[in-house]
Amino acid sequence: MTDYNFRYILEKGSKKYHCPECTKRRFVLYIDTETGEYLPDHYGRCDRESKCSYQLNPYKDGYIKMLWEEEQGNETNWKPQQRLGSCVVLNLSCQLVIA
Ligand SMILES: [Zn+2]
Repeated sequence: MTDYNFRYILEKGSKKYHCPECTKRRFVLYIDTETGEYLPDHYGRCDRESKCSYQLNPYKDGYIKMLWEEEQGNETNWKPQQRLGSCVVLNLSCQLVIA
């Protein structure tokens, strides 16, 4: 049985993608170590720590738990958080750290 606490990790290595917040190519994505597939591309961490510091952890926002529940055959009513949208609308530079 897969340990969900360690199955999804920030991808190792130097591959970087466009950050959803600052749009620079400095974004590290979460990867499913079992299938080798990426999580949705807003999950990850921007390495421009002083300028951007966007990060969204799929464990903290409940996404991983939802995947796990679905794999158990349970219904979930989990919805992604929409904080990115409101930041864009308000034109604010906000941190997307979900505590
Ligand atoms: Zn960024």
